[in-house]
Amino acid sequence: MTFENLNLIEPILRAVKAEGYTEPTPIQEQAIPVLLKGHDLMGCAQTGTGKTAAFAIPILQLLSGNLSNGNGKRQIKALIVTPTRELAIQIGESFSAYGKHTGLRHTVIFGGVSQHGQVNALKNGIDILVATPGRLLDLIDQHLMTLQNIQFFVLDEADRMLDMGFIHDVKKIIAKLPAKRQSLFFSATMPPEIQKLAATILVKPVKVEIVPVVATTNLIKQSLYFVDKPDKRHLLIHLLQDKSIDSALIFTRTKHGADKVSRDLVKAGIKASAIHGNKSQGARQDALNNFKNKKTRVLVATDIASRGIDVEQLSHVINYEIPNIPETYVHRIGRTGRAGINGIALSFCDTEEREYLKDIHKLISGQIPVVEDHPFPMKHGAAPEPVVKAKTSRWRRR
Ligand code: AMP
Repeated sequence: MTFENLNLIEPILRAVKAEGYTEPTPIQEQAIPVLLKGHDLMGCAQTGTGKTAAFAIPILQLLSGNLSNGNGKRQIKALIVTPTRELAIQIGESFSAYGKHTGLRHTVIFGGVSQHGQVNALKNGIDILVATPGRLLDLIDQHLMTLQNIQFFVLDEADRMLDMGFIHDVKKIIAKLPAKRQSLFFSATMPPEIQKLAATILVKPVKVEIVPVVATTNLIKQSLYFVDKPDKRHLLIHLLQDKSIDSALIFTRTKHGADKVSRDLVKAGIKASAIHGNKSQGARQDALNNFKNKKTRVLVATDIASRGIDVEQLSHVINYEIPNIPETYVHRIGRTGRAGINGIALSFCDTEEREYLKDIHKLISGQIPVVEDHPFPMKHGAAPEPVVKAKTSRWRRR
């Protein structure tokens, strides 16, 4: 399957090519034709599957046939609601990339910053709006914008909206939308409450479900280090001496842990910063930008803060702590090995975390290869069960 087979218009094909995409991802292959035909869509898919392009491309294509608005100023015709500022910015970047030859205009609005620039962008007239729920309602309440011309509505990461307590705001937004519209609903999981919400938004939706990244994908080289808890930081610093690790995302279970690891690394002369829910939006965005631009080599994150972080060409994921939910392991390591790039996932396991490891092995139906000859082997405790051995060179990027 190629993008040409999806009946996309030339300006979009050109933009997709410029992004270096050679073929559509499964969600794009399934969702784009359905959306171009005008159906509602229920997508069970998480970040990393290419879902942004799966909704952005058809919206751009359908709107580009419909550019003129009489003589008046442009009206907002497509609305994408997403839970966090980081996701909103990333979706905005996707519309810029795929829509750069279409003549369509978009803007991104989110809270935590002055509304001034955002209001000016709205006043200039835009076709597509990407928004977080709170700021969107705020601007509507101030009569600075209206949703009455919306033809396309996308609710992104619905389960996370629920987790973050935004469901009430989302319902208010839905109540302001015109009844005649095309609606798209995306959620990584579909608990009953989310299904109920979807039923209030969608009309006869086509369902597309994308199975999460498979942990055993051969694009991701996984290895496991058994190490005592106090030695984890020494092992980390030791491994990061390898200059071929050009960008590493490190996961900790707690916010406090993320700060501590980042401080240890900085003390050891390694450029690192932490990202988690206790940091201000500005601080989180700075940390993320510096990491993306390769100003900082290491980003330390908690699972919640890391959801939605989309870093292309991330070479290494390091599990400083083994997650207690096995699916989290799969999500974490799926941050690397994206879009055909080889990725490396290293995990540090202390005695207490052995239980979690068992669950992970069960989930991935296999064992993570163990690196035995490292400088910080466990001093106490039983020797690790004999599992698949990894050569030390395994964690090096090919
Ligand atoms: P998303 O799930 O939308 O967050 O996308 C995940 C990543 O995959 C982003 O970095 C996209 O730029 C990239 N991507 C999306 N579609 C494709 C494709 N067809 N081929 C290669 N990379 C893609």
